[in-house]
Amino acid sequence: MSIDRRIFLGGIAAAGITRLAVPAVVRGDSSPAGSTPVRHEHDGRTTERAAAPADRFDPWIDVDRSALEHNVDVVRRLTNGRPILAVIKNNAYGLGLVMTAHHLSRYPEVTGFAVVKPEDAIALRDAGVRGTILLMGMAPDEAVADLVAADVTLSLYLDDDRERLPARAGRRTGIPAHVYLDTGMSRMGIPYHRARPWLSDVRASGAFRLDGAFTAFTEEADFDREQLTRFTDVMRSADDGGTPIALHAASSNGVYHLPDAHLDMVRPGIALFGGYPSRPTEERALAPLLPAFALRCRVVRVERLRPGDSVSYGRSYVADRPTWIATLPAGHADGYPRGAVNGARVAIGTRTYPVIGAVSASHVIVEIGADATVAVGDVATLIGPDHLDVHPNELARVTDSSVYDLFMHLNPSLPRYYAP
Ligand SMILES: *Cc1c(COP(=O)(O)O)cnc(C)c1O
Repeated sequence: MSIDRRIFLGGIAAAGITRLAVPAVVRGDSSPAGSTPVRHEHDGRTTERAAAPADRFDPWIDVDRSALEHNVDVVRRLTNGRPILAVIKNNAYGLGLVMTAHHLSRYPEVTGFAVVKPEDAIALRDAGVRGTILLMGMAPDEAVADLVAADVTLSLYLDDDRERLPARAGRRTGIPAHVYLDTGMSRMGIPYHRARPWLSDVRASGAFRLDGAFTAFTEEADFDREQLTRFTDVMRSADDGGTPIALHAASSNGVYHLPDAHLDMVRPGIALFGGYPSRPTEERALAPLLPAFALRCRVVRVERLRPGDSVSYGRSYVADRPTWIATLPAGHADGYPRGAVNGARVAIGTRTYPVIGAVSASHVIVEIGADATVAVGDVATLIGPDHLDVHPNELARVTDSSVYDLFMHLNPSLPRYYAP
């Protein structure tokens, strides 16, 4: 599902539109009197309208701005007020790229954003997002000029970036850039053990405004410390007494577990959105986060099973007594994990109910029990803050998946409603 966005953007490129037309936040005057205006982001286009309409049954995503604020505050306290470079890659972990950036921009600690795909960086600038926008991914030749013109900060890591980027940018000085060091992930960055001469050449070229340098941890506790030493050793040796380079390394895991890595700036993603990165119980005890999104829909069918009636593909559930069931119009195509059949629950009203039968593309069935305590039209929360049973980390645990998958696999085409 993570490729949906690429296909969508590819479709736009194919249509000859090179930049996403994302209007700045529009103050609508169309909200009915008495309703709370909330912003709505759909396929990257931003409008403002009332929260999930009362007649909407299909799934949607509620984004809770006060939860975002709470989580920024948690990161601020854990890091003694370090500047935050908020990672909003992959549609801001499912919350909606542009609106999430606008909301996070309101907090003084959030001094910039980091993304992986060039089109996301451009879309943020086109939407009027200010501050640093760091592209942690590759800047392909064809994108360099646009990125530099949009004042996007590039990551330097390829051997030939020193010549390639200025040539493609059509500019010989002042290209904003951070150095990306590979200290043990072997994923991105210039390997630390040959970074020193490379870095000297980069600086000698005079083409870049080197604002920062960063690395990514493997999140293996002992090795993280070794990586931190590798990183700071290289960067210290490169210190020529000139303009200081801001060092950053800590993602959400480092924010919680490695204070020595807070350095000049921190670079969390999932914690800002309310997901615990590594050890939920311990992290909740240290500083509790609030899930900032909820995947919701409305019940479309309530029916009674007779003993012997079966449920969904493969008939893995067969009723052994009369029981009520409810059908929800959300499924794995919307980002709800198939593994939910192995013990996940869904919140409806104040109670939670077990998922029974295989999760299909657009439907989930829950068991209500002996009494019909649920009705067609009731709001159901499949993932969200409503109850511990539907907390993203708990759902990740019972479905044996990753909390990162739950966030990032939310279907980007679902409407997002931004509660104040
Ligand atoms: C995704 C990412 C982050 C943020 O990670 P979280 O675990 O979500 O906090 C930070 N740095 C890099 C390089 C990343 O790719």
